[in-house]
Amino acid sequence: MASSFLFHNAKELLERCHEHRMPIWEVMLNYELQMSPRSKEEVFKMLEERLQVIFDGIDAAIAKPEMSASGMAGKSAPLLAVAVRDFKELDAGLLLNEAAIRAMLGAVATGENNARMGVILAFPTAGAAGVLPGVIYGAKFKLGLTQEQMVQMMLTASAIGIIIANTATLSGAAGGCQAEVGSATAMAAAALTEVRGKTPECSLHAASLALKNMIGLACDPIGGLVEVPCIKRNGIGAVFAMSASDMAYLGVESFVPFDEVVRAMREVGDLMSPKIRETALGGLAVTPTGQEVAKRMGLLHIGDNACSK
Ligand code: SF4
Repeated sequence: MASSFLFHNAKELLERCHEHRMPIWEVMLNYELQMSPRSKEEVFKMLEERLQVIFDGIDAAIAKPEMSASGMAGKSAPLLAVAVRDFKELDAGLLLNEAAIRAMLGAVATGENNARMGVILAFPTAGAAGVLPGVIYGAKFKLGLTQEQMVQMMLTASAIGIIIANTATLSGAAGGCQAEVGSATAMAAAALTEVRGKTPECSLHAASLALKNMIGLACDPIGGLVEVPCIKRNGIGAVFAMSASDMAYLGVESFVPFDEVVRAMREVGDLMSPKIRETALGGLAVTPTGQEVAKRMGLLHIGDNACSK
């Protein structure tokens, strides 16, 4: 009988990688083949189509910027797109390199496309849909990635997402934004590290470094809309993922293994007040600015509850 490619946590994922002498993406591909009736060609085709959704969404937000109905989102992707266009002139004044600015652009454009009802790929959720696209967008520029490598990144990221979903949650309502943008950042960090030729262990260190930095992050969307702080949080999450990947690339290890980091994230999520778990009853959602938008949008009942408590 063929040996299994299934895994539930990072320890088992590493065991599968070693047993089969495969990188994470290839174990994940075989996991999918084991769990679904699809062929390898069908899985790749499906992921290539989804990759196209990612790039189409980014291009749409850049080519035809529009404000969202709330008026909160739509201005940032055009600004970042100009920065990318004029990077050579701006270079002296910026601290981050062009790949990082492009990652921000890809992430923010995805979020702004979502806010104006464009098609996006929820990866792992709609709110956190910008991080991996941003990292792919930046890394494609810097590393000259092929389509096959970008699909491999999606597979590596999926493996990390499965581990988090099995042990904790990917839902902001259940675990706060650490579970959404935090998870997406860990997924992207691992994917970026592996596509740069590093080992599964190194990729998991990148995921741990990224997620540890997101633990405790509240889910506090203004008016309950996935716009503020979500969109720019994705932009900075993409750069966090690159930072974690660079650390791991240079040999920096996470002192706490990934499985323990994920359990800690779950525990912190359990300790979070419901006010900061997607209810728009706390945090940025109930700032005066957030309340003003909620009032204008006819969503004040959400924030009113918070203020009256
Ligand atoms: S703040 Fe909440 S709604 Fe926004 S991305 Fe984070 S988890 Fe999702």
